Amino acid sequence: MNYEPERDLEMRFPHVQVELADLSPALAAVIPGESLILFSRELTPTQRRTSLAHEIAHLDLHHSPTPLQWFSRRQEAEADTLAVRRLITVAALADLVGWCATDAELAQQLQVSVHAVRLRRTTLSQAESAIVEARIACVEYAA
Ligand SMILES: [Zn+2]
Repeated sequence: MNYEPERDLEMRFPHVQVELADLSPALAAVIPGESLILFSRELTPTQRRTSLAHEIAHLDLHHSPTPLQWFSRRQEAEADTLAVRRLITVAALADLVGWCATDAELAQQLQVSVHAVRLRRTTLSQAESAIVEARIACVEYAA
């Protein structure tokens, strides 16, 4: 089953409000102390899905922004890694990877950003990598 960030937020963080704001150049932001997630008005559905998963990951990881309201680079990387693990299951990646010629095509199929696909592919565990590689080998054999 695909991860649905909007449903996850509703179920696990019902007190967190989502509002639109002018955030340029940022796409989204979370203010944990105020239980608030802000989205840029210009987000596409895919950007919104990816960004919401990222902001939920900050909440799950109990990240607290610095006094200037920014997370550290390490916290951003941790939130990104957790978000893409949720958005892109190994099963979904394995199903598609042999059929999609580019990361952009994979991203479109998975309804996530190209950045998310690349990060997921580079942070696969050894066991996950073996599952994906085995599927690629199958597709090549079948072709
Ligand atoms: Zn972040």
